[in-house]
This record gives sequence, C-alpha cells and structure tokens, in this order.
Amino acid sequence: MSEKNENKTSASNFIELIIEDDLKSNKYNGNIVTRFPPEPNGYLHIGHAKAICIDFGIAEKYNGKCHMRFDDTNPVKEEDEFVQSILEDVKWLGFDWDEHLYYASDYFEKIYEYAVQLIKKGAAYVDDLSGEEIREYRGTLTKPGKESPYRNRSVEENLNLFEKMRAGEFADGEKVLRAKIDMASQNMNLRDPVMYRILHAEHHRAGNKWCIYPMYDWAHGLEDSIEGVTYSLCSLEFENHRPLYDWFLDQLEIHHPRQIEFARLNITNTILAKRKLSALVEKKLVNGWDDPRMPTIAGIRRRGYTPEALKDFLERVGVAKTDSTVDVALLEHCLRENLNKSAKRVMAVLKPLKLIIDNYPEEQIEMLEAENNPEDPTSGKREIPFSRELYIEQTDFMEEPPKKFFRLAIGREVRLKHAYYVTCQSVVKNEKTGEIVEVHCSYDPATKGGWSDDGRKVKGTLHWVSAEKAVNAEVRLYDHLFTADNPAAAENLEDVLNPASLEVLTECKVEPGLLEANPGDRFQFLRHGYFCVDNDSSDEKLVFNRTVSMRDSWAKIQKQMQNRGKKS
Ligand code: ATP
Ligand code: MG
Repeated sequence: MSEKNENKTSASNFIELIIEDDLKSNKYNGNIVTRFPPEPNGYLHIGHAKAICIDFGIAEKYNGKCHMRFDDTNPVKEEDEFVQSILEDVKWLGFDWDEHLYYASDYFEKIYEYAVQLIKKGAAYVDDLSGEEIREYRGTLTKPGKESPYRNRSVEENLNLFEKMRAGEFADGEKVLRAKIDMASQNMNLRDPVMYRILHAEHHRAGNKWCIYPMYDWAHGLEDSIEGVTYSLCSLEFENHRPLYDWFLDQLEIHHPRQIEFARLNITNTILAKRKLSALVEKKLVNGWDDPRMPTIAGIRRRGYTPEALKDFLERVGVAKTDSTVDVALLEHCLRENLNKSAKRVMAVLKPLKLIIDNYPEEQIEMLEAENNPEDPTSGKREIPFSRELYIEQTDFMEEPPKKFFRLAIGREVRLKHAYYVTCQSVVKNEKTGEIVEVHCSYDPATKGGWSDDGRKVKGTLHWVSAEKAVNAEVRLYDHLFTADNPAAAENLEDVLNPASLEVLTECKVEPGLLEANPGDRFQFLRHGYFCVDNDSSDEKLVFNRTVSMRDSWAKIQKQMQNRGKKS
C-alpha cells in the first residue's frame, strides 16, 4: 500500500472493514481464510448464494482462501446427491475452492479427542437425563435452569462412560455428553449444551464407524479451527451461539477464528429455508429440487437465470447487520437488465392464430433479414422465412377493438416485424363455435423490411412465424410459487401456494432456427419476455421455460418514487 492510500479503504461492508483493520494490525499474520459450510441435507437456495458470494468473494478480494466444507455431522438427513448438487451450484456461481474441499466427518476422530480433553479438564460430563428431561431442566428465558443430578460425575467415570458411548454400549438417547458451563446463564445456549448424542445410524461417508455424532455448536468451531480459518462468517441466527463458539475454543486453547454474523437474505413471495423447500419436494408440490419455480440455485439455473444477474442482485442488496426483506421485483429487474444485453431476439407465437396474405404468391418462401440483438452490435443478423400463411398471437387480433387497441382489426394496417405492412380484410370463423380461425390480409410489397417510403405510419408491430416453416414447441410459463408476501409465516405452505404458478402451452410455434438451440440457451421472445431451452427438450419436442416476462415492475416502482420526489 502506498502512503497516499494508507487511510483509504476499499471495504464495501462492515465485514471487510473488520478485515482491513486486522490486516493493518497483522492479526493472523495477514492470512485470510474463510469457508462455506453447508450441511448436505438439501439443495442450495438463493440465500446460500449470498453466503457463498460473501465467503468466496472476500477470499478473492483479499488474496485469501475459501474452503468448501461440508458440515456433515448429522447422518440422518445427509446424502451424496446433495453433496454433488452443492458443488455444482458453487461452481456455477463462478467460484473455485482449489484443493480446499473438506468434510467435517473427516474430523470425527479429532473432535472426539477434543471432547476427551474437555472431560479431563472437568469441562464436560456424561448425562443420563432423557431429551425431554434435559429440555425441562434447561429453564426458560426468565427462569434459570436446574443442574442435572449427573453433572458432578468424576472425570474417570465420565471418561469411562464416554468411551462406552463410542463403543456402542448404549441405545440412542440413553446418554449424551454435555459441556459444563452455567445452568443459570442469560444465554440459553450456554446452559450445558449437548456436545454428543448417540445415534446408531449410517453416515453417508463414515459408514457405520460411529454411533455418536457431534452437535453443530460443538463441532463447527473445531472444524474452523482445524482448517486454520480466520473468519467464520455466518448468518445472524448464529449471533447467540457465538459465546459458545468462543467458549469451546478458549477451553481447548487452540487456534481461534473470529465469527462474524451478517443479515440473512429474505425475498418477498419466496421461501429461503431448506427445511421448508425440502417439504415442498417431499409433498410433490413442485417437480423436484430443480423445478424452475423453486428458489434453489438448481431451480433458477434451469429457469434461465444467469450467475451474473444473481450476483448483481446480491451486490445491490449488500451486506448488513440487520435483517430485512428484499422485493423479488429487484431480483427480476437485475435479471432483465442482464438478459437484455445478452439474449438473442427471436419470434415465437405462444397462442397461434392463422394469418393468410391473399395477395402473396402461394408456395413462395422469402428469407428476410432480422437483427439478433439491437443492444449488442456484435450479435449480427439472421434470416427468417416468410410465407403466405403465417401465425400471429390470438391476442393480436380483435373483431371489435377498443379505443387503445393498436394491433390488428378488420380494415387496420400493422407492421409485421422485419417483414411487411399488412391490412386485415376479413376473417373466417368456425361455423359452430364462432371462434376466429383465420385472419385474411393483403400486404404491401413496397414495405419490405417493415418500413414504408411514403411516410405512412402504423401504430402496431406484431411478431409472427411462417406457418409452413415454424417449429412446434411447448412453453412453460411460471409465476411466483407463493401468493403471500411472506410465505414463511404461513402455518401451512399449501394455503399460500399460487395455483397458477405454472401454465403449460403446448401449441406454440417458433422460428425454425431454434431447432439448433441447446438446453440452457437463452432468448428473448419478442414482446413476451426471456425464455430458455429446458432439459426436457429433445429432437422431437422443443421445450422452453419462461425465465421472466417483459414487464418490469421494479423499474415502475423506481419511476413512481422518482416522480413523487420531483413533485414534493
Ligand atoms: P436453512 O436455514 O435454509 O435451512 P441452513 O442455514 O440450515 O439453511 P446451511 O447448510 O447450514 O443451511 O447453510 C450454510 C451457510 O449458508 C450458513 O453459513 C448460513 O449462515 C448460510 N445461509 C443460509 N441461509 C441463508 C440466507 N437466507 N441468507 C444468507 N446466508 C444464509
Ligand atoms: Mg440455518
């Protein structure tokens, strides 16, 4: 750092300020090690993405390291499928742990030894109380707890019993190992917390080697310490656990990382809690963890989100010390902004209506030029087929149009994007139902490209596809999964589910060029929004997910706020 810059800070939040202070005082010898420590009991969600960006982002910014560590201390809910999905998600966000991939279960022996150390110090004891009794004895926020009658066992007895616990001599729940701290502490977490429980269960990595498993609070600081982590960054709900985190490390007198808490990410109309997301999957209220309506990273990836959009959103939300809820419209705004720059424009008709140009030569197919993305000068042009019979959207024609309807009606002229001006002459109806099945038009050959030399103006521009050349597609339209602003507060998730969160359109027609697209490719369907090719696509059937519609409610909210500002 040059002298001139010495007092300048590049910190963009309170955690980085703490780190920069520590760097100045050479705490931890200038080392910076963070970790992202998910429990592999579900897929990651957007809230985890915030933690990932903080943990890996800080390591990147200050030339440190970020460890990818699975906190796999609970054998019952953990699975290898979750491990693999988590690794994939972190990579998708653009982060790399190099060789630093760790599993808490690899430290079980070491953690056991640390427990023996605490027993020898008289700081831990084996308790015979049942789970329920332990809860009763714990007291409440206003009432101090009561000491267990087993609290004052001798060190020898404790060592002996603990060894037997490990050896499998007791049944689940028969005994636990507890820290001997303070049953009257103001902080409930310090009222002799459980360190080990007996669980005769197979672990996804350790197999049947263990029948005692360490609790989160006991193990987490040790995992951090063993790995030489310097900053243990976590969400705010762990603030009350920090005194315990510190107590264990102080008792053992081992390397002591600093725990710092930040606000969780909360988003309106969205649930960011693994337990609840997992219930949605189990009850089959969604089609799996990667259902494009899910706020999981796998879900939004399938939906067509880009990592750039998600990171931009997280940056705008920032890192604060108090909880708040962010409008989901901001996330969608960031997505549109990102896709607007990168997504190729194409034409797709979701609910087709036949349009026939009576004065256009039968059998003729004309290739017309279309720009791929006006926002990106390097994106080039493509050719699209035009023919006598086309499809337009059903909603782009009205027999009796209201005043502000500028699309097609009998006697009206509109522009067909990239093509010609057409004027509607008549319609053909289904005799039985009265439904309009064909719209007949004439076209003006002098308006090729969609422009007129005589200065004649049209108010509407419609998208279309050639009926002969278009390709069939299924399009899945998504809306918010929940109707409630704060679905997490609902007693029953089923009550706040949006019954219209998925609409499947199976009769869509898209430009033939889309046959070349691959799963994951993103497009703007003109006038409809952003879409991506779904994994369910095959040579027989193209399937698209709507990533996000065109309508930007966040931009509208901002505009209203600005206008209000101007008026006052
Ligand atoms: P959930 O609370 O959704 O069940 P979790 O906290 O049990 O998730 P972990 O696997 O323990 O999930 O989380 C790994 C890390 O992600 C933790 O450090 C946690 O602080 C962080 N994290 C989880 N949810 C959020 C969120 N909504 N916002 C920010 N960070 C989060
Ligand atoms: Mg949690």
